[in-house]
Amino acid sequence: DDDAALLNLEAGEEDYEPFVPAPPVLAIVGRPNVGKSTLVNRIIRSKQAVVEDVPGVTRDRVSYDAEWNGKDFTLVDTGGWEQDAKGLHRRVADQAELAVDEADAVVFVVDGLVGATAVDEAVVKMLRRKKKPVLLAANKIDDSAQMAEVYALWNLGLGEPFPVSALHGTGTGDLLDAAVKAMPETAQHGGLVPLGGPRRVALVGRPNVGKSSLLNKLAGSDRVVVDNIAGTTRDPVDELVELGGEQWRFVDTAGIRRRQHMASGSEYYAMLRTQRALDKAEVAVVLLSVEEAISEQDVRIIQMALDSGRAIVLAYNKWDLLDEERRFYLEREIERDLGHISWAPRVNVSARTGWHKDKLAPALETSLENWEQRIPTGRLNAFLGELVAAHPHPVRGGKQPRILFATQPSTRPPRFVLFTTGFLDPGYRRFITRRLRETFDFTGTPIEVSMRVRE
Ligand code: GDP
Ligand code: GDP
Repeated sequence: DDDAALLNLEAGEEDYEPFVPAPPVLAIVGRPNVGKSTLVNRIIRSKQAVVEDVPGVTRDRVSYDAEWNGKDFTLVDTGGWEQDAKGLHRRVADQAELAVDEADAVVFVVDGLVGATAVDEAVVKMLRRKKKPVLLAANKIDDSAQMAEVYALWNLGLGEPFPVSALHGTGTGDLLDAAVKAMPETAQHGGLVPLGGPRRVALVGRPNVGKSSLLNKLAGSDRVVVDNIAGTTRDPVDELVELGGEQWRFVDTAGIRRRQHMASGSEYYAMLRTQRALDKAEVAVVLLSVEEAISEQDVRIIQMALDSGRAIVLAYNKWDLLDEERRFYLEREIERDLGHISWAPRVNVSARTGWHKDKLAPALETSLENWEQRIPTGRLNAFLGELVAAHPHPVRGGKQPRILFATQPSTRPPRFVLFTTGFLDPGYRRFITRRLRETFDFTGTPIEVSMRVRE
């Protein structure tokens, strides 16, 4: 019976979807002042977006939840794209290009009264390279007498231009109909977004560290079991546990509780189960035990948690067994084996006595908060500017790659992109990652720093 459950587990049978794919992303691009923000405001029907009369005003790429004809999507406003832009304008252009890269479809806005300019043609070239569905919006067509320029826009080779007046809202319906049709059901680069409800926790660790005991202690007598599914697989069971005045959903707890199997079963299945729990959770509690030295399996489980991109809390169990001598070695083990994850909050607990079990919830909250943290583009670049000025990249073969600009396109976990003039040394990249952690609080979350070398 257990084996049948495990085989189902191996086959990846799912009982419910804890995450849903992110809705598709529609990016609005175009040169400054063509009316992108006005259009965004029109689409989201509010005055949230900043509308500025100054061309090329730097602003963060702003995203909004939008909906048209019952279809949800994320609308991304970009600050305006310019060819051969310098300084601030270049940054804005980089942002816009990144937005296009992450988008599922693009609305390219031109000023319908002015017609296509050289800059517009450069935007078209950039868009062609990206191979995304593009809808051409000819904006500022406030009345039908102004259609002449619109027909000329066929020349851009982007198909039929949609005449719109973002100001008055005319034509935007047809544009959105087409945009919604052009977009896939879900975002290609959006990953997954957690469904509402209690936060999902994966309690992972090698056999015998005390997962089952800790869960018993945390859940106590008022255990609430959910998703006890009927049918062949009775394996995945979640439990709602109240910690720190909040509900948490511990996922796949049946696997945790079936101890004898974990102890005797193959490591392969244990790892499979761990992976599955991580996939379903937003935050992982990696349980270790002071009883034994950190093992290879501990290290592998930590690596799986890291690779999953989830928020992490390290918990050291069986603290009641700690004596002076063991403590001495433990400190050294932690330094030696857990150095690469020293940013994770660590709580010391005893599942046996319940000691420190109240420390878990605050640690989970910290990690999750930072997992979702977004650093405003301005702050990020101010930080980088100072850092690079004080510690420039070493010169290699007469060349010195420069960092032009950075942005954080996503969270869960935080992901950063550096626009550079050349490849950065891995050591330098690690240095930047470390400083990012020191400057902004990323306790409990992995962060990713990648670069874009600009040709
Ligand atoms: P962005 O820089 O592309 O985001 O452009 P904005 O949305 O800030 O608009 C630039 C200017 O064009 C503002 O003064 C807007 O009021 C004006 N504008 C935007 N859409 C229209 C439109 O449909 N008709 C007219 N007449 N003006 C518009
Ligand atoms: P699991 O395999 O990770 O679920 O571990 P268990 O919860 O089954 O615990 C394995 C063994 O460690 C059991 O004999 C527990 O009684 C014991 N144990 C668990 N937590 C503690 C603790 O905090 N202190 C001590 N002394 N023993 C513990």
